[in-house]
Amino acid sequence: MTVNVLFSARRELWPIYEPLLSRGLSDAGLDFALGTELEPAEVDYVVYAPNGGLRDFSPLTRLRAVLSLWAGVENIADNETLTVPLARMVDHGLTQGMTEWVVGHVLRYHLGMDAHINAAEGEWNPVAPPLAADRSVSILGLGVLGEAAARALAALNFRVTGWSRSRKDIPGVTCLHGPEGLRRALSDAEIVVLLLPNTAATENTLNPETLALLPKGARIINPGRGQLIDDDALLVALDEGQVGHATLDVFRTEPLPPEHPYWSHPNVTVTPHIASETRPATAAQVICENIRRGEAGKPFLHLVDRSLGY
Ligand code: NDP
Repeated sequence: MTVNVLFSARRELWPIYEPLLSRGLSDAGLDFALGTELEPAEVDYVVYAPNGGLRDFSPLTRLRAVLSLWAGVENIADNETLTVPLARMVDHGLTQGMTEWVVGHVLRYHLGMDAHINAAEGEWNPVAPPLAADRSVSILGLGVLGEAAARALAALNFRVTGWSRSRKDIPGVTCLHGPEGLRRALSDAEIVVLLLPNTAATENTLNPETLALLPKGARIINPGRGQLIDDDALLVALDEGQVGHATLDVFRTEPLPPEHPYWSHPNVTVTPHIASETRPATAAQVICENIRRGEAGKPFLHLVDRSLGY
């Protein structure tokens, strides 16, 4: 029987994904129809991104699964019209990109690069940075992306602490969990990296109380989601020097509005949600493998627990 796959994402992505998905589905030995507009009642799988505009899944009466192109699924996890499995994106290329971005920004802080980039002409201040073994980095979120970043930083000898919902065991990383774990992870963190999903439980993970736990002058790197930080509290902490600098890639409103105080704050670096992205060549393989599994009656990979929201 023909497997009907609806591609519902940004229009510009279709010419990129169409040949990749066609090849992957052919290689899986499937007889398929693939398109951006299919008869709703005949759709078996949706390849999904929120900017494709699909909100109401109820007309898709034959739907087997929704396969997200994004790692973050907060825009769809609570969609009540969706009653079939939802898989999120776990893509080697996305993970590699995030690891590189996190390591780069941690090294910027660790090495104190800004002091030299911004130094006045003739300023000669020969203070060498400490070794990584003398620098503590805490990663909040030890999922696919957080664990990869934690392992890369541990391989560079940083003192890495990680925090997650459930207990973890990662070589070279002090793994903590639960509320007391968060307190410990923050109280020792010269650099904090946020790689949590946006859920009801993670909103404002950094707030006045938790920001106060940090050593004075700590740096924050947020490639997770804007909702993880209480923005007003961070701005106060920056103004008071409790937080020395923040590099923010994600925001509650994107693009970040021109009048937002983050733009003009001297101790904030704004990056425009570019920490990493799904890479079509590797992501198409992940999507096709999940469709192959679905058609073979095997469990889907990377399923979202919708009760937890990630
Ligand atoms: P995962 O689902 O693999 O990992 C999420 C991690 O967060 C897990 O370790 C999980 O704990 C932990 N977590 C979730 N809820 C809580 C909680 N209440 N308390 C403590 N820990 C919690 O996600 P990924 O690593 O793949 O992605 C993380 C996020 O990165 C995405 O949700 C997305 O928001 C963001 N992202 C940003 C991009 C960018 O370009 N800026 C690109 C891609 C993703 P446990 O392991 O116990 O389940």
